[in-house]
Order: sequence, then C-alpha cells, then structure tokens
Amino acid sequence: MKKLMLSVAMLLPLAAMAREVSVTSPNGKLVVTVCDDNQQATYAVTLDSRQMLLPSALGFKADFGDFTQKLTITGSKNAHADHTYEMRQVKQSKMHYVAEQLTIDFENAKGQKMSAEFSVSNNDVAFRYLIPRQKNDNPKCAVIQSESTAFRLPDGTTTFITPQSSPMVGWERTKPSYEEGYSIDAAMTARSQYRQGYTFPCLFHAPDGWVLISETGVDSHYCGSHLSDYPYTIAYPMVGENNGNGTATAGIALPGKTPWRTITVGTNLKPIVETTIAYDVVEPLYEPSQDYSYGRYTWSWLIWQDNSINYDDQVKFIDLASAMGYEFCLVDNWWDQNIGRDRIVELSKYAQSKGVSLMLWYNSNGHENDAPQTPRNCLDNSITRDREMAWLKSIGVKGIKVDFFGGDKQETMKLYEDILFDANRYGIQCIFHGCTLPRGWERMYPNYVASEAVLASENVYFSEGAAIRQAFDLTLHPFCRNAVGTMDWGGVIMNKFLSKDNKSRHTRKTTDAFEIASAYTNQTAIQCIAMQPNNLQELPQQELEVLKAIPTTWDETRFIDGYPGRYVVLARRHGDKWYIAGLSAQKTPLTLTIDLAAYGLTQQFTDQVDKKGRITGTAVTPLKLKKGKLTITMQPNGGFLAY
Ligand code: CA
Repeated sequence: MKKLMLSVAMLLPLAAMAREVSVTSPNGKLVVTVCDDNQQATYAVTLDSRQMLLPSALGFKADFGDFTQKLTITGSKNAHADHTYEMRQVKQSKMHYVAEQLTIDFENAKGQKMSAEFSVSNNDVAFRYLIPRQKNDNPKCAVIQSESTAFRLPDGTTTFITPQSSPMVGWERTKPSYEEGYSIDAAMTARSQYRQGYTFPCLFHAPDGWVLISETGVDSHYCGSHLSDYPYTIAYPMVGENNGNGTATAGIALPGKTPWRTITVGTNLKPIVETTIAYDVVEPLYEPSQDYSYGRYTWSWLIWQDNSINYDDQVKFIDLASAMGYEFCLVDNWWDQNIGRDRIVELSKYAQSKGVSLMLWYNSNGHENDAPQTPRNCLDNSITRDREMAWLKSIGVKGIKVDFFGGDKQETMKLYEDILFDANRYGIQCIFHGCTLPRGWERMYPNYVASEAVLASENVYFSEGAAIRQAFDLTLHPFCRNAVGTMDWGGVIMNKFLSKDNKSRHTRKTTDAFEIASAYTNQTAIQCIAMQPNNLQELPQQELEVLKAIPTTWDETRFIDGYPGRYVVLARRHGDKWYIAGLSAQKTPLTLTIDLAAYGLTQQFTDQVDKKGRITGTAVTPLKLKKGKLTITMQPNGGFLAY
C-alpha cells in the first residue's frame, strides 16, 4: 500500500506527500500504522503481519472545528510505558503494563490542531484524542459532537455482538440498560435489531484472528459510546436517553481528551479472555476510604420476588448466608416501604449478629425513567444522597445495589461517579443494575464492585426462553462482556424449578455442576449465590461443601479452551490454589483432554449420568491425570470444577 501511495504521489506532484508513522508493541508483533493519505487520517492494525483492522478513519467534529477531514500529520513523538499496579477485585491481582506509545499531531484545513495517542502492548491497542487549546489559547471548553473513528474489519469477519436498545422503551421506559441478547458468528453487514448499533464490548472473528473492541476511562468528563451499525464507527448516546434530558454529546474543558478506545487482538481467544487493558490505561480517581472486603451474597428477590421483601423472609436469607459462611445478604426493592427504615435498622443488627452484612437496593431516579420501585429520589442528588449514605454507614450496611440508570449520556456518567464518590466517603461499595458497561471503573473507583449490564439471571426466572439460552449466554460472556468488566450475573441457581416451592413454573435447564462452575467463570468480587433456604435441606452434602468454598477474588486467570457460546474452560488462581472451571452449552456430551499438569489439583466435581446419559446427580472424586492430562466429559448444559 505504501508503494502505491508513493507512486500516486509522484504522478501528482502538487499533492502533499502522505505521511505514515507506526508504532510496534514491545514484542514486535502488534503494529499500528497511522497515515494521512488523501488528507484522511487513518490507523491500521496488524498482528504478526496479519491484518486485524484495515485502514480505519480517525477524527471527530467539535463545535469549534472539523477534524474528520483535510487532516495532515505535522509531527509525532514516541514514549514507553512500563508500570505495575495491584487490584483485588478483577481477574488478576498483580498487573504489569508494558507498552510502546505514539502521539501523532494533526492539523486540519484551518490550521487547528489535535493529536491521536496510541498505547500498544503485546495484544492490546488503546487510543484516544488529545485536544489542545487553539489560537490565542482559546477555546477553553468544547463540545465534541461526533466521531468518525472507525473500525474496519477484514472481509469475512463474523460478529459476536449485542444491539443497543432504543431509548425509553421496555420496563417503565428504563432502556437502554445493556440487557439485549447476543447473536454469534453473524455477518458484519447484518443490521442491528433496533438500528442503534451495538453496545461494548464487541467481539469479532476475523479471518486471521479475534478482535475485541471496547472503551475505558469514561468518567464524568465524557459520555459513554457504542459502536454504530455497519460500517462501524464510534457512536454517541441517543438524544432520547434520560427522557430527552442531558446532551447526547460530550462537553470537555481544553486541553482535554476523549476516553480510551481499546482493541484487543489475538490469533486465538487467550488474549481476549485474559486482557486487562480496561485497567492498564486508567488511574484510581480517589483513594479508598477503607480496606474493602469481598465475598458471596444471598438474594431473596431472584425467585421469591417482591413478596419476599419483608422482615421474616429476609431473616431466612440472612440465616442462609450465615449457614453457608457467606458475607452478604442483598435486600431488594421496596424495603423502605415493606420493611420500613426502623425495622431495617433491626434487620441489619440481626444480620451483623450472624456475621452477615446487608446490602440494600436503591432506585437511581431522579428524572430518567418511570421505574417506580422505592427508595426513589434519594440517590439522584448530593443532598439526599449524603444523608442516605451517612444513615447506611450508621446502621452497618456495607453495600448498595443501584438500579435503573438511563443510558450513556455524560450526565449519567456523572451520576455513577457522584454515587461512587459519596458512597466511598461512608465505606459503602456499589453494584449497579439496569446500567451501562463499566469502563475501567474497578480501578478508577475503588469502592465500585460490579455491574449487571447483561441479560442476567432475572430473565432465567422470568421466562423459559431465557432459561434455555442460559448456557449459551454464560459460555459467551468470558469472551466479551466479562472480559472487559466485572459482571453481576446475579446468581448460582440451585433450585430445580424457578419457583419458591421448587416444583412449579419452568425448570432450570443447566446442571448443578454447570451452576456451581459458573461462579468461577462469571467474574465479580461480590458474587451472588442465589441459593434458596430450601436448598440447605435438598442439596447433597458434597454440593453444599463445594458451594461454601467458592472464592470470589482472583490472583490470576488463564484461558484453557472454549468457543464463545459453545463452551468455556478457565483456570483461576486464588492465593496458591488453582481452580479449573468448565461450562458447556452443547446439546451432546463434550469430551475434552486438557493439560493440567501445572496446577496441583487433587479433586474434581462433575455431573453424574446413568447408562442412558440422564443426569443422576453430582460427585466429588479424586482427580486422575494421565501424563499430566485430564480427560473430562461435560454433559449438555453441564460443567465441571477441578481443584
Ligand atoms: Ca436488570
């Protein structure tokens, strides 16, 4: 391409000579090439000389200038990044980020300036725009109206993506809430379901490898973005989000910057599952007010629903948590009305007497949507929020789950940030539901725990269709949704039927080994174990023991095997102990031979079947390796755990 470009330039001596600069990852394999051919700024990505992204547009439109066309490169500078940091609540604890960096300066037709900054590690590209003040040190603020930033994947690429919902639709007009279904191995040219593009992260299978596109570092200084319909570009929020309130563009101070857009690439799926780029290029925005702790929580609402939000039923779920050695119990919506604040004080005292901490549900509204559940109108502004948080701290509540946010506008990103910052002052950790994707938040906000941002377990309760899709969904998320951010799926479900009596409504479609292994494949540092009090009597002792022993924080995560939506096998290390967890969404038994010599494992927990292949239960048996290898069969919608 370079040769062609030069020859065209020679034929047209009056045309400005295109400039091309590139940056190569520390291991020399991942290359980003930036060019201003025909005054169009583009970047392209290759891995081991394989094309991952074709030359794709760079640029944006600001209120003061157009940076989408007539751009020329005026200079560039290189830098090297090498830093270590630690995190306790994501897939890995000790991080080491090494990257080669390149900042390319551009000028548009009016002589206005901007730069594109690329940070290239061995399997990740992160890039953002840097926008300086212009002539006479002005303007000092800007509106970024749109971007031409594009992602041109090679022909033959297939997609593993989920559509962005239209705004102000669904339950009490609460969408978009990142709760749409994924389709896999689809053609790039297929239109998205609602013609609103796709939410991050977006996974692609290119002819020569895998590409995961997302963004990180979004805080109150910018809106959240998503991917447009094909051809893919960065798209900003929809005007109709938050009932039309708030801008759908980004307002920034100058000099300023956009969030990082991230591209994780691999010739196989290992770099996709193991990526830490969401955290590598961001910084903590404040100090934790205390040493936060993590663990497991029980949750009555998933199966007992709103009727369970009463004092006596919550005592049952606190007792369940206590019996299992779990750290938290989540009291869901309407507690302020159905239990009352005075009795919640008593309930929290009772929980603490049993070694359990309460987490309480809140409505994020406000003015964003019609979600009626209470407590409402107390977290949407700093005055009542501060009062609420002080009260929570005074009664020993350790966490909140805040539900029903309105989308990705900058004002909503500010609401998330304000809630997190205020909660930290009172030692309270936050889980968000009905919400957007976290974008580096585990590192940026130390008391942030997890987000739903997935078509989660509640749907397994609501509809048999979602129960049928559950194995597909949970074998997909380690490769996309959960690869870039902690995910509150909302629970290991042990009831056979999705009902309180455990004999009515539809059945669970996954095996017990699948459910328990999903606590290892789904990553969040405060993990819901959606057991019901009846499970204590119903489950075999070996299952209760395995359930009690589930860790929720990880020092290391390794991809072992899998394919999105079909099956997944991951290794996770907690301290010096390794756990290998597998899930299968296949319709027939799946036998794998896995090299486990390095992990020091002694036991396996598996589904058991009779001669006709019917599930008869589970068993814990000694692990037998042959030449370091385990041959394991996962049943349809089944799983396993080795430890
Ligand atoms: Ca939800």
